[in-house]
Amino acid sequence: MNPDELGKAVTSAGGKPFVARQLAQWLYKKRESDFAAMTNLPKALREKLAQNYSLITSSVVTSEDSGEGTIKLGIRLQDGLIIEAVLMREEDRLTACISTQAGCAMGCRFCASGLLGLKRHLTPGEILEQFFHIAAILKKESPDAWLTNVVVMGMGEPLHNFDGLMNALAVLNAEWGFHFGARRITVSTVGLPDKIRDLANQGFQFNLAVSLHATTDEQRTRLIPTNISTGLINIIRASADYYHATRREVTFEYTLVGGENDTPDDAMRLARLLEDFPRANVNLIPMNPVEGTGLRAPTTEAVEEFTDALTQAGINVHVRRKRGRAVQAACGQLRLKLEKANG
Ligand code: SF4
Repeated sequence: MNPDELGKAVTSAGGKPFVARQLAQWLYKKRESDFAAMTNLPKALREKLAQNYSLITSSVVTSEDSGEGTIKLGIRLQDGLIIEAVLMREEDRLTACISTQAGCAMGCRFCASGLLGLKRHLTPGEILEQFFHIAAILKKESPDAWLTNVVVMGMGEPLHNFDGLMNALAVLNAEWGFHFGARRITVSTVGLPDKIRDLANQGFQFNLAVSLHATTDEQRTRLIPTNISTGLINIIRASADYYHATRREVTFEYTLVGGENDTPDDAMRLARLLEDFPRANVNLIPMNPVEGTGLRAPTTEAVEEFTDALTQAGINVHVRRKRGRAVQAACGQLRLKLEKANG
């Protein structure tokens, strides 16, 4: 809810309009999810609000700690669907990876979320609730601990749930909301060109991460079926438009799949595709094996050769560590495991 909506909720529960500001403080600054703890609000009002509203509609059903700084939460929505949120620690960074859909319609072959199809979009509230679950973990460590970065890279294609995503990110970014800087928020997409341009026109300075994963249309369509209608070159053009509209660097995600897209020739083609970007960033992600996909992880040598070829071509390369393999951190893998366990 924005301040106006909070104001209506407060006055319809018999409270004074100014209390809405205090309520926003509790919700978005202190990330408090229990009305009873909001002690500077009149008790009768807290009780009335608790009767009228649920602050948290989802619940954490599993919490898996990799022991190497990654905690992965399995979250059950009120209709029983399961999504995932991940907390990652890396040096001085505390990053939340959040989901925007239950399941995913994109059907990428290397991804567990795509295996079961799209169940539904998450509401803005369900997207934001993931932060409250993560806040509960951080509060146990220190009352002031909070995230430094947010990546919208969990389950689902964020730009497919464009309105839900924008409404949630508006609250995350707003001064009256979480006041989380847009430049510390990364939206990751499989590459929906029209939606990338829509995102560029929203007036925010989000970072954009585009999942390429291939260097020819034939190869990409094999891995990402939606590529048949989008096409690689249109995604590159839309990404360039995003860069020119926002002046934010675009990062290209490239999952290295053994024997599929991991040769030095692939690396050279990738470098050529990105040659018009003043500073191209590529995140290489050695694939986590996903049961049932028939795809395998690349060898260490293949990852090294690919990295060297890109670096020599002047690309800024970052190889993502296989963080969280122990907690099934490739998107969708935890949910798949839970759903299998639940039959
Ligand atoms: S990789 Fe992302 S876009 Fe592709 S199926 Fe998985 S969640 Fe969807």
